[in-house]
Amino acid sequence: MTTSDARAAGPPELPDLDPGRYDLAGLTSDGFAALVTDSRPFVILLPVGSVEPHGPHMSLVTDTVISRGACERAAQRLEQGPILARIAPSVAYGVTECAAGFAGAVSVPAEILTDYLGAVMAGFLRTGSDHVCLVNNHLEPDHDRAVRAAARRFRPTQASVACPLTRRWARTLSDEFKSGACHAGRYETSIVMARAPALVDNPVRRQLADVPISLSDQLRAGISDFAEMGLSRAYAGAPAQASAAEGHDLLDLLADMIATEVADALASRG
Ligand SMILES: [Zn+2]
Repeated sequence: MTTSDARAAGPPELPDLDPGRYDLAGLTSDGFAALVTDSRPFVILLPVGSVEPHGPHMSLVTDTVISRGACERAAQRLEQGPILARIAPSVAYGVTECAAGFAGAVSVPAEILTDYLGAVMAGFLRTGSDHVCLVNNHLEPDHDRAVRAAARRFRPTQASVACPLTRRWARTLSDEFKSGACHAGRYETSIVMARAPALVDNPVRRQLADVPISLSDQLRAGISDFAEMGLSRAYAGAPAQASAAEGHDLLDLLADMIATEVADALASRG
């Protein structure tokens, strides 16, 4: 099946409006109120992503797909906790200056992202949720800072950030991720192949040469533009080596990260 056939035949790949078991989209106001009055903590998982190029083989909305996929597994895990978790509609636009030279990069100013996320979080807390976790998988440092700044506007028991950029979580992930050559390479491509296979063009992916350039090293050296880094096709790493099986394992690790960040934050309520 070609990518376009799969798109035409398959269900929607971004189910913000196609409620799965844990999607906020499946709740009425009364349903939400029932979760607020439940004796268990009621947590909102808010997927955060970006709209930016991910190589010649993968969707512009890759980072949001990764955040959502991880949230789905985390919600299931938290409920065994027992913590009630629901996945909010995604915030799919972020700070995307590194990719500015490529078609399809849509960047918003950092302070606007912080204000917007802060307002959404305040809204969820005001309407009775106990906690909001920002689940971010767009790893540009300015974007990460803007996301964390939003969470800092609230008490630590009310807000958390789950993002694999921190040392605590980065070291749990794959070798490619740890090498820093992790934009639209084996790591991200594997996850999208696991969660939303129609968003990866496999014939193109299989032809792609490895680009062993560490984004973290480049950023440390003061280079923040993808083209200047040598990412001439907006990817680094080894997308040809990606697999859905690896993606499922990585989604489980990201779900562990989310469930742990939320449980730690709630535990500090005493
Ligand atoms: Zn990405």
